[in-house]
Amino acid sequence: MAEIGQRTQRQWRLALCTVMMAAALAAGPFSAPSLAAAPASLEEVLTALAPPPSAEALAQIPDKGRKLLALRSYVRAGAALAERWSWTDAEIKAFEGSPAQKALLAEVDAVKAHFRDANPGRELYVHGTTRSLDEQIAKWNSNESVGAAAAEMQAAFAAAFGEAGAVPDPKKLAQWLRGYQPSKRPNLAAPGMTLHGRASAIDFQVMLDGRIHAGANGKQVESVWRAEGWDQKLKASITAAGPSFVGPLANPDEPWHYDYYPKSDSAAATE
Ligand SMILES: [Zn+2]
Repeated sequence: MAEIGQRTQRQWRLALCTVMMAAALAAGPFSAPSLAAAPASLEEVLTALAPPPSAEALAQIPDKGRKLLALRSYVRAGAALAERWSWTDAEIKAFEGSPAQKALLAEVDAVKAHFRDANPGRELYVHGTTRSLDEQIAKWNSNESVGAAAAEMQAAFAAAFGEAGAVPDPKKLAQWLRGYQPSKRPNLAAPGMTLHGRASAIDFQVMLDGRIHAGANGKQVESVWRAEGWDQKLKASITAAGPSFVGPLANPDEPWHYDYYPKSDSAAATE
């Protein structure tokens, strides 16, 4: 009995070893160190904490503060991240010209037409229906408000875990990331997380004489959008002609941003 048990155990161990080696080879250089005894680098710890499918986006954020700020959003979203993650280039391509995109564009056009009639000389401008992940990453890496929040977070990270060189315990770091609150929110969602990444949100900007007059710009919220009443005028056109649009976004305060929940979807579902 004992002999058979030992042999089985040994065979099992050998099999497990083979599986682990295969997994390490297949997964590439990032996961290999977790099997070895060598301590992980900070980069590896951050990558390991990123819930799927965010690790690839995280790798394209070189600045440490901006990386921590994005990872904070990813960790807080956790498993729900995959459901709202931005479309791949292939998914964006499949959407282009589809009945779903035509329905969206028809509703955008109806809102535009209503606005034009109600506000002679003014036009609404909409910049595309989908914002690619690459576009979002480029903005995250250059946006000023992200930079300010990132610098604040990097300082807080150094205060909590010590300066460069020390690699924090992954569990402690995950806990810290979940609890950290920036004093000022950046005016962009972390790459991959905006509804613009899956044609589920539209920014309506106001044009005057062929130029953007009230733009998707945080600095114009009070001075232009509210002062001149564009928030109300846009809302009126949305209410009249855009039944699938919900908004505007309140947090952060963006009178130009409306989420899109296509009515045709619910109609099709009940048919
Ligand atoms: Zn928006």
